[in-house]
Amino acid sequence: MSRGRVRVYEVGPRDGLQNETRVIATDDKRRFIETLVAAGLREVEATSFVRPDRVPQLADADSLLPSLPRAQGVRYPVLVANRAGMDRAAAAGADAIAVFTAATDGFARHNIGVDVAASLAAFAPLLGEARSRGWWRRGYVSTAFGCPYDGRVDALRPVQVARRLLELGADEVCFGDTIGVGVPSQVAEVTGLALDAGIPVERIAYHFHDTRGTALANVSAALAAGVRTFDASTGGTGGCPYAPGAAGNLATEDLVYLLDGEGFEHGVALDGVLEAARLVSRLLGRPLASKVGQAGGWRPAKEP
Ligand code: MG
Repeated sequence: MSRGRVRVYEVGPRDGLQNETRVIATDDKRRFIETLVAAGLREVEATSFVRPDRVPQLADADSLLPSLPRAQGVRYPVLVANRAGMDRAAAAGADAIAVFTAATDGFARHNIGVDVAASLAAFAPLLGEARSRGWWRRGYVSTAFGCPYDGRVDALRPVQVARRLLELGADEVCFGDTIGVGVPSQVAEVTGLALDAGIPVERIAYHFHDTRGTALANVSAALAAGVRTFDASTGGTGGCPYAPGAAGNLATEDLVYLLDGEGFEHGVALDGVLEAARLVSRLLGRPLASKVGQAGGWRPAKEP
């Protein structure tokens, strides 16, 4: 029996590849994204319209986005950080954007050069313009549980930032465990406070990192709290910039295996994700970081 529907929001082509040292050719990125869509993924964060000198891995955003197949029901959100990024995204045919701030000033300053309040002020006109254009809008709240600069994060902090993002016109907020330090009780606490603050559960997403092996436990905690949208990166690409050599993004194949076993509908075929994972592994020239990528799915020898 189905336990309901979950959205799997793929971040591999953007968040995964932007943190890999090897730069992938535009045609290969398109093939990767086509394989993801063929696997049933309907939201694929495709690229980022940020300064090419800062993120050379995604410098081809202007040519990649318009070249992607526009299948019915498939959304390709792109990251934008400022006016110039909005203009480039519009010229490339974007219809869904994500903006990126944090729960902590330390992370915001290091990552985007301003504190959280200033980042929200900068995003306000971008979210407003995106709304008037009819674009879908997501706001990321990174360092929701812990920050490499500011340490432990009070659970109210990410919730306050999320509320502000929604007030500014975001359709959805996504809490990110940027350095992979969160545990299930923190997920339950943040989710509970978000609901208490009037944030509808369907507008909440989580972006977990498996840096310390807690990503799927955190997914389970969020599912128990009613959240039904999760980010993941096929092949577990991305690594962790704050712990060199360690895992970063939760792998899509690991998430899909859990959701299948737990009886949630999501429309994503594990075999198709594994095919995309093997492709990205070949392109990056390194083994898959995911558990299910290494072990494969499981077909029981006997059914009871
Ligand atoms: Mg990530």
